[in-house]
Amino acid sequence: MRALLIYPRYPETFWSFRHALPFVGKKAAYPPLGLLTVASLLPKSWEKKLVDLNVRDLTPDDVSWADVVLISAMDVQESSARSLISSLKERGVKIVAGGPLFSSRWEEFPQVDHLVIGEGEGLVQRMARDLEEGRAEKIYRQERPVSLEESPVPDWSLVNLNDYSSLGVQFSRGCPYDCEFCDVTALFGRHVRTKRASQILAELDLIYDMGWRGGVFFVDDNLIGNRRAVKEELLPSLISWMEEKNYPFEFITQVSINVADDDELLSLLHRANFDELFIGIESPEEESLRSAGKTVNLNRDITRAVRKLQRRGFLVHGGFIVGFDTDTPSVFDRLIDFIDSAGIPVAMVGLLNAPRGTKLYARLKKEGRLLTEISGDNTDFSLNFLPVMDLETLISGYQRVVKTLYSPERFVRRTISCLKNLSPRFRKKTRLAWRDVRAFLLTTVSMGLSERWRRHYWKLLTWAAMKRPIFFPLSVKLLIYGYHLEKVFSSREAPVRT
Ligand code: SF4
Repeated sequence: MRALLIYPRYPETFWSFRHALPFVGKKAAYPPLGLLTVASLLPKSWEKKLVDLNVRDLTPDDVSWADVVLISAMDVQESSARSLISSLKERGVKIVAGGPLFSSRWEEFPQVDHLVIGEGEGLVQRMARDLEEGRAEKIYRQERPVSLEESPVPDWSLVNLNDYSSLGVQFSRGCPYDCEFCDVTALFGRHVRTKRASQILAELDLIYDMGWRGGVFFVDDNLIGNRRAVKEELLPSLISWMEEKNYPFEFITQVSINVADDDELLSLLHRANFDELFIGIESPEEESLRSAGKTVNLNRDITRAVRKLQRRGFLVHGGFIVGFDTDTPSVFDRLIDFIDSAGIPVAMVGLLNAPRGTKLYARLKKEGRLLTEISGDNTDFSLNFLPVMDLETLISGYQRVVKTLYSPERFVRRTISCLKNLSPRFRKKTRLAWRDVRAFLLTTVSMGLSERWRRHYWKLLTWAAMKRPIFFPLSVKLLIYGYHLEKVFSSREAPVRT
């Protein structure tokens, strides 16, 4: 059997990093980790090929080669997934689809021959066996959470690692919290399941042996959800592995804000070379956090927590949401002030949306306020429900927040505030890599000479060179993020409403 695995294209979003990638000579930000894992679950006897549409186009030869096509997608890839499915069906290709988009909205895809709903481990093997025997069913549904100890090492041989700016691994699934707007617990549950540390090391060994050096993203929704497993199993093993290999990777991950409460955990993360943390801060308004069930963020000084994390060597990226029922028009200025005062250069501010399966979706449906499904991009000015705040006020306030935050002047001011407070990563870089030099030269041309960025670009780099030269490469990297964010939001206008 010949299986063609296809990953649909992302639109231009915060997460696509489309405007940042040319500076680092990469084609996509992250590889399709889920599909690479699915590839390893398929029978050894099958021939496999993977096309990531974020990296290259699909050719007629790819399609005619395949006996079956497997697609995995998130909501944000819906448009690309739909046109892909239509064109494959026109050619009479057998399609199997899975992943978050198809798991939550499977009934919207009648053209798909076989749907894998839920986690793939166990199901993919059964579906593949049935396909070989010509008796595959329409729906394969995972009835209970799987053990991640059954999850194989992803088949990295199917992609060119150098196409990506960062690679990925996953240690855990699930989150102990239950925020009303989040679909993580709907997809994976509140009991946090983990792999064994040895599985993660096997995954790292493979990409290390394939020559990868650089960023590795632990894609877990909340890496510290099972704190015992992280502190006692994962991190000690990771620290020894990194020491032995002389720190080939820099790790990035997502965690809840209470990471800042645990000094021992911070020390372990630091020694393992985690240097960027993405944290769902959501709102400066206690009432909004409380109504959204974001209990982990309540009753704490979040600015102080962020500043502490910076002092411990972690660059903090924040996720924020506006449009909670309790938000009033004052939230917009409060949010801008909060992000500025905490010194968070990369702030992902989105409009509240209700993914299917969340408690928010169920509540809004009951209240008759649900309008449609989410677009998957919470920065595209769309909402899938009727907000409490007047819609025009909400959209124009949101637009003002993103335009203000991502203006070059504001971005650079925030970055300097962050870098003044940041401690160097555990393993200090002693030599500049070619990729750093290349990024610097390219930004000089695009930003250092541009009308919009020139003054602010040189202000940050001059400050870094004089005051904190160790952060010069990081300053260039942050400028690239800033350039991407500013491009995404300056090219986007709120829809005109009548
Ligand atoms: S803490 Fe984060 S991952 Fe966990 S439920 Fe809340 S938003 Fe989702």
